[in-house]
Amino acid sequence: MTRTTPERPMDIEEVIPELAEYRGIATRLHPRPGAPGPGESSVGGPFLWPADEPWPMCTEPHKRRFGERLSDVRLRRKILAEAWSRQSAPGQPEGPTDEEFETLGSLKRGRHAPWLADTDPIPLMRVAQLYTRDVPGLSLPGGSDLLQVFWCPFNAHGEERNVAVHLYWRKASEVSEVLAEQPEPEVVGRDDYVPAPCVLHPEQVTEHQWGDLLPYAIRAQLDEWEDWEDEDAVSYQSDLSIPPGWKVGGFAPWPLTGPQEIVCQCGQQMDLLLTIDSREWDSGTRSWVPIEDRGVADTDANTPTQVVVGRGGRLMVFVCPSDWSHPHRIVLQ
Ligand SMILES: [Zn+2]
Ligand SMILES: [Zn+2]
Repeated sequence: MTRTTPERPMDIEEVIPELAEYRGIATRLHPRPGAPGPGESSVGGPFLWPADEPWPMCTEPHKRRFGERLSDVRLRRKILAEAWSRQSAPGQPEGPTDEEFETLGSLKRGRHAPWLADTDPIPLMRVAQLYTRDVPGLSLPGGSDLLQVFWCPFNAHGEERNVAVHLYWRKASEVSEVLAEQPEPEVVGRDDYVPAPCVLHPEQVTEHQWGDLLPYAIRAQLDEWEDWEDEDAVSYQSDLSIPPGWKVGGFAPWPLTGPQEIVCQCGQQMDLLLTIDSREWDSGTRSWVPIEDRGVADTDANTPTQVVVGRGGRLMVFVCPSDWSHPHRIVLQ
């Protein structure tokens, strides 16, 4: 099924024509639970990874003994999904059974990998794989057509103690044999960093620059236009600026810190490559719910990947516009 973003509740460029200069295009990825294969674009699915290429590992020094077992995270999700599906069937008991409760209670954080020293390499986790043929607007260096995004699922990297994001790009046609058993870390720092397997339904949408980055004259007109009294009124930030959810390209939102300049070591302004969002929509961004999802808008359908970054916000990956070998930057908002 495709996913279709509804038309914006109003055409803001009719009210403020100058906003046309601050119009952009992004590709919403619309991840939804599924069973993707290595030949498909996905979140949390198997990668088209060559059988003869070493799997990337995290070797940065940090603790990796303590956390949740990856197998426990998946078991908990399975039990809860089953309990939830029973609940919606008539005549079935509500919620997990006693036995399931006991199992859930036994899945605890702990020192589950006591043999790991702080510098022992651990496999990076698959986050997303994007084929350029599926994702309009995604262009990769050197004629590559496949982007593979990994992270190390511990809040332990860099000054900001984040996950470590690693990017790989390649030509899919150069992969002859796909690695069958793809390594995974045994322990993760947070279950929030374990993406549930999702297929993607990429869709290009129009967006407008984040309000604080608009020229003063336009902001003044927007202030005049906004209905600050009615919480149900159309709002620039919620409905007309930047869509929620996982996306490629487009503008960056700055709700936490206000706008920041993201500058590469070579001095250039960096491009927003990928946004990883904790929710596909919430009560403030209902107008972006795809038409096909309106029936489930009030369920947990807004958290298909089960990934939560920061305190429920977004993690954005920026790359150098001229050379992807320059270090990328990640920003939480
Ligand atoms: Zn790490
Ligand atoms: Zn650069």
